[in-house]
Amino acid sequence: MRIFECRCGQSLYFDNHHCEHCGRSLGFDMDQLLLVAADDAPQSQFCENRTSHIQCNWLVDKDDSHAQCVSCRLTRTLPPESEENNARLAKLEAAKRRWLYGVLRLNIPVPNFHDVPDGGLAFDFLEDQGEKRVITGHANGLITLNIAEADPIERVFTRERMNEQYRTLVGHFRHESGHFFWDQLVRDSDYLTPCRTLFGDDRLDYAEALESHYQQGETDDWKTHFVSHYASSHPWEDWAETWAHYLHISDTMETAASFALCAPWETLLDDVEALIAKWGDIAIMLNEMNRSMGQNDSYPFVLPPPVVEKLHFVHQVVHRVEPA
Ligand SMILES: [Zn+2]
Ligand SMILES: [Zn+2]
Ligand SMILES: [Zn+2]
Repeated sequence: MRIFECRCGQSLYFDNHHCEHCGRSLGFDMDQLLLVAADDAPQSQFCENRTSHIQCNWLVDKDDSHAQCVSCRLTRTLPPESEENNARLAKLEAAKRRWLYGVLRLNIPVPNFHDVPDGGLAFDFLEDQGEKRVITGHANGLITLNIAEADPIERVFTRERMNEQYRTLVGHFRHESGHFFWDQLVRDSDYLTPCRTLFGDDRLDYAEALESHYQQGETDDWKTHFVSHYASSHPWEDWAETWAHYLHISDTMETAASFALCAPWETLLDDVEALIAKWGDIAIMLNEMNRSMGQNDSYPFVLPPPVVEKLHFVHQVVHRVEPA
């Protein structure tokens, strides 16, 4: 994520609604991918969810027939309204905007379910109904997220129970979108064969693979070839985890570049090896900063050579580099 700047000179951050210095109303322009003063965007209006509990700060073109921005329009099903659910929804939508920014920043097309009813991207944000648990996952363009994930207590509880090192809302969007983009960018393309060579054969029975993954429990075997234990459960999960890490790295390095901690983001993206090497330095710094503050590591992962190779491949897919 980059840092934006107000006409008055004040630094602006992605989630801002107003400039803290001059008070100008701000909106995010998704065409330019910039946070701009509303006065400077006379052709735009605020997303209708700006004034709802969602507090979206994105803009919509006035010519557009829609009252909601591209991010809000990706949500197909909302949980039943309640004070608690509204607060959860605001957090989910904020994480969704941050994830979507990262994807649009990489020029990845995001067909939505309004335009592409079969397979276009949609989100259902659902709540458990008694014994009937909502499983977070993706199927044919539809990403379902259990809104309980927006509660920090629930999320940390699940993270510890599953023995995970990292569990965040933006991480869920990045991971689940990996399944969607696999369908979009890999499944019917020349990338499929090299993808199977690197990640394994995705035709392996998914349900069986997941079941045996959970039954086997965890040893250290995965650490030499996968970015996380979950990535070792099935080639699709390995792809989705690696995809998520590519988005983590791309977005965080843009932040680092914004603070002049590394070369400009566009330059870094030209050379994926240099990008990942530099990311290694930045991640160590981030973790040490967090440890200094008594916090958990920001990036509790190591990237062994096979994972770096998989990240290269995701980079090629994102940048439409012809498969070798
Ligand atoms: Zn200002
Ligand atoms: Zn919106
Ligand atoms: Zn998954």
